[in-house]
Amino acid sequence: MACLICGSEKFTRVTDVNESTIVKCRLCNFVYTVPLPDESSVRDLYGNWTDAGSQFQPRGGLGRRLKYRLFASRIKRHFPKHQSINLLEIGCGQGDLQRAVKHDERINGIGLDLDRSALNYARGLDLDVREGTLEEQNFLPKTYDCVVAIHVIEHLYNPIRTLSEIYRILTQGGIFIAIVPCVTHIKARINGKRWKYYHVPGHLWHFSPKTFRLLLSKANLQPVSMFSFYNRAHLKTIAKKID
Ligand SMILES: [Zn+2]
Repeated sequence: MACLICGSEKFTRVTDVNESTIVKCRLCNFVYTVPLPDESSVRDLYGNWTDAGSQFQPRGGLGRRLKYRLFASRIKRHFPKHQSINLLEIGCGQGDLQRAVKHDERINGIGLDLDRSALNYARGLDLDVREGTLEEQNFLPKTYDCVVAIHVIEHLYNPIRTLSEIYRILTQGGIFIAIVPCVTHIKARINGKRWKYYHVPGHLWHFSPKTFRLLLSKANLQPVSMFSFYNRAHLKTIAKKID
């Protein structure tokens, strides 16, 4: 399978996980899972994510709620002059972020997910959530000031297609916020082949700051900030459209 980022077919095996192999492109160092499952099986995995894995249990707690409130307040800081901010979250799960912005007078939030159990829970909280992928929504161009994808991009069958759709629906000056596992984080290096985020099925792409930046550029998106948490192997990126 050719590298999604540079097209090279030369790679080095990193490790085997279940029936899959994690490989690293010899040209651009992009780490990815082979073979790539077919698109319908990727989708089916998430429609029944919690049903197949374990019974859906909503995650709660004050700390979690405060974390998402803080996340929402940081979004608003990017738009000091906006009276209303259209926010789309891809992979909203049980709706934590949507819940945090529900009563915010400046943010209009909607969430997308494929996990029916999580969506039912979010609907029970009267949140605006929809079942489906971003590409299925046919949103109008330049509709959203902020698109958020927390631990989503690494799961996507065709991330460049989804990022291109994000580009299309973002307003000029809009921001895309992504959090992905970071394969070059110290925790990943220490754990090597046993790193927990190599898990399959699920994680198809394993990003470093460099390869995530390259991926974004394929969709004309450019990071304005990249931040890696010292205690978690996560990379948080805020990106804008390249003019
Ligand atoms: Zn490559």
